[in-house]
Amino acid sequence: MRYSIDTIPVLDAFRQAKGCPFCYMKEKLEEECLEHYMGDSKMEPDIRIATNQKGFCAHHLKRMHTDMEGKLGLALIADTHMKQRTENVDANLDELLAMCAQDESFFGRVKSAKAYSEKTQQIVSRLEADAASCVVCERVNINLERYFETTVYLWENQADFAELFRGSDGFCLEHFGTLLNLCAQGAVSAKKRALAQAAIMLQKERTSKDMDDLDWFIKKYDYRNWEKPWGEAKTALSRVLNRLQGHILDYEEDSGK
Ligand SMILES: [Zn+2]
Ligand SMILES: [Zn+2]
Repeated sequence: MRYSIDTIPVLDAFRQAKGCPFCYMKEKLEEECLEHYMGDSKMEPDIRIATNQKGFCAHHLKRMHTDMEGKLGLALIADTHMKQRTENVDANLDELLAMCAQDESFFGRVKSAKAYSEKTQQIVSRLEADAASCVVCERVNINLERYFETTVYLWENQADFAELFRGSDGFCLEHFGTLLNLCAQGAVSAKKRALAQAAIMLQKERTSKDMDDLDWFIKKYDYRNWEKPWGEAKTALSRVLNRLQGHILDYEEDSGK
């Protein structure tokens, strides 16, 4: 059964995550994936082909540079990938270059001006598509999608999962949306609607707690409240920012800065 291997990371995330469990799963997948592409397998031919063709987004390139060991490995990856990216547009750039050198009469002709504009667009589209492509994001997204499906499976088939689900911290806004969407896909069973109901109630409850804490966080800056206890408000700002945009911050205490 395909779910047997997938249930462990999902259960693990719902048990351990501070904040959104799907962000927790995503981070674990990212770690594994970066390790995979930067580790010993980076020189294997099929890995080289994938990294050369797809490359990495800004976020993952930065992580590889700052968080991972081995600048030589990254330099080798950058070397072949940059050559590939250059090659992707080089012939078209040469053609555009030739058009740029044409005299005024060339651009006076409607057909030539159109060819110039189309060639430019061809290059720009390729540059934009290459910049948006990331081998890590692609792999993480495929696996995260499976984990979302596993969550629905666990809800539908494992009786004690509901308690674990309701005891979690709720979700970042993006992953909350993904979960709701999944509950409305295919045959919308009573169990799927019950999952959507549980997710909405959990999300409302946890968000309301975060907002109450954030309210107290703001009020604590009033000198009349300086001596009053923080309660759980010290991490409220991080919690709300993480809910807005996924797990971007550890839950450090933000007070006093
Ligand atoms: Zn999330
Ligand atoms: Zn990426």
